[in-house]
Amino acid sequence: MQRPLLIALAFALAASPLRADERLNVVASFSILADFVRNVGGDRVNVTALVGPDSDVHVYAPATSDVKRVADSKLLVINGLGLEGWLPRLVQSSGSKAAIVTASNGIAPLKHGSEADPHAWQSVANAKIYVANIRDAVAAANPSDAAAFRSNADRYLAKLDALDAEVRAAVAKIPPERRKVISTHNAFGYFASAYGIEFIAPSGVSTENEPSARDIAAIIRQIKAENIPAVFLENISDDRLIRRIAAETGARVGGTLYSDSLTGEKGAAPTYIELVRHNIKALTSALAD
Ligand SMILES: [Zn+2]
Repeated sequence: MQRPLLIALAFALAASPLRADERLNVVASFSILADFVRNVGGDRVNVTALVGPDSDVHVYAPATSDVKRVADSKLLVINGLGLEGWLPRLVQSSGSKAAIVTASNGIAPLKHGSEADPHAWQSVANAKIYVANIRDAVAAANPSDAAAFRSNADRYLAKLDALDAEVRAAVAKIPPERRKVISTHNAFGYFASAYGIEFIAPSGVSTENEPSARDIAAIIRQIKAENIPAVFLENISDDRLIRRIAAETGARVGGTLYSDSLTGEKGAAPTYIELVRHNIKALTSALAD
């Protein structure tokens, strides 16, 4: 780099109202939490997600660079409820002294057997609890910016209230007997219990693999027997199977529902609010009369 450019850069840094090193360094375990932190922290935080957009937080294998990111952070935001099994080792090997906030603290966990369902953010009321926990944690980590964090959080919480009302209004337009879908996702328990759309797992079908012809026949029987108006089967990549389900049952085959991850900027769900809006649109268009 040439000297004049270096000098210009130094001036630019000195003149900016908030230098990078004055911002609170926050690491979130996955993309949805990072979005919450961004909304509360605004330009007073640097936030990165360990598990970025379009990636699976359940099975993440931390990279070497994550050790440094965690070591450099002052606050670590995690979901808890057993979601980030890979995290304790990462924190330990980083030697991090960061405060850790469990964003789901205070939600009422749903249980699958003895295990808690970690996908609590799928209810917008729970997302508000996450945001309040994050607000309190960033304020405690950087008290001089507490007032800004509080007013950012108030603004964002008001948006989440509006979002919750939007979801309820959309569901209210679906005839009650049509509020059920078959889905291979097991991530919508909190959504189902908050908003009254039933998510039914396809019987006897693995959620990991592409369903076989026999699986498809079983799904077709289930749709007919339980009168299910729509299916969301994202792990079927074979269009002929999808068309067969639609042709033999009359059920609508919906598109993608996003559960555990945001998309990149150009995707359908680059923020939590857009993720919820995308899902409710996909559900209502598949379930409308
Ligand atoms: Zn999940």
